[in-house]
Amino acid sequence: MSWDKKNNFLLSLVVPAFDEEDSVNYFFKRTLPILEKYNYELIFVNDGSKDKTAEKIKAQARKNKRIKLISFSRNFGHQIALTAGYRYSHGDAVVTIDADLQDPPELIDVLVKKWQEGYRVVYAKRRTRQDKWFKKITAYLFYRFINLLSDVPIPTDIGDYRLLDRKVVNILNNLPEHARFLRGLTSWTGFKSTYVYFDRQERRYGQTHYPLSKMIAFAVEGLTSFSTKPLTYITYLGLLTSILGFLGIIYALYRRLFLSPQYYVTGWTALFIAVLFVGGVQMIMLGIMGEYLGRIYREVQNRPHFIIKEKVNLT
Ligand code: UDP
Ligand code: MG
Repeated sequence: MSWDKKNNFLLSLVVPAFDEEDSVNYFFKRTLPILEKYNYELIFVNDGSKDKTAEKIKAQARKNKRIKLISFSRNFGHQIALTAGYRYSHGDAVVTIDADLQDPPELIDVLVKKWQEGYRVVYAKRRTRQDKWFKKITAYLFYRFINLLSDVPIPTDIGDYRLLDRKVVNILNNLPEHARFLRGLTSWTGFKSTYVYFDRQERRYGQTHYPLSKMIAFAVEGLTSFSTKPLTYITYLGLLTSILGFLGIIYALYRRLFLSPQYYVTGWTALFIAVLFVGGVQMIMLGIMGEYLGRIYREVQNRPHFIIKEKVNLT
């Protein structure tokens, strides 16, 4: 080990912020006293905020060179903001935390302690969460479902509040893919990890930036990044409907050839149902294939993950 994990290490705190002008000052007030104990850098990633988020951070950054800011040219999304934070961080340990104080900064000390014990990944796991029932239920289902399908285990009931060792951060920084479902990627690296429990608070200032549409997109991203099982399952489903279709054909032929003509028209219902059913199944299959195809397309385009408009206290 080239550095001393006990005393002389650099701690990076990465904070994605999208329209958080109501939160940032409270964030500084509550977080800075905790950070002062360490040799730290505090990196904000302003994800295309349209409000005064950047101004408020810059005001602090002028007084304190440890406070750094990256501003994107537009909104690139939470996971990409974290990706940028990792890329510009220099810490021996890097903690990611939300700007809205739903993740209690007091827990940073505990995360660091676990890291000093030798864990390279320390997740902050929600013991309880004070969110709306809808968010609770969908989050619960999402983690159960993704783990059913995923090829790597995705830790349940964790968010993006975690500590990563420099070694893990370097690996993430070298992953070229654009689909950045960081919870999955972190687990994929396979390093020794542990949990620290906390009670997730309700958002006090501002509002969530994860409406249902974004939550669904996030879930699909996670699923398709870590499993191709949906492709396998639709093959099975296709096989099953083919078998049913084949039986239907035999049945139809039987009626046509061996029964009297009065029975022909009665088959309309069966025909109608079969057409609708097979049509629907095919549409779903096409949709799932399209999801993967779209992802391949995005990777092949290979555009930069994000575009930076401005940097403060960073080179
Ligand atoms: N965030 C971001 N870009 C986005 C959406 C969110 O950088 O497009 C940030 C946001 O400012 C916050 C964190 O990601 O610091 C978590 O977002 P939010 O609190 O809206 O999500 P929730 O806690 O409701 O899941
Ligand atoms: Mg939040």
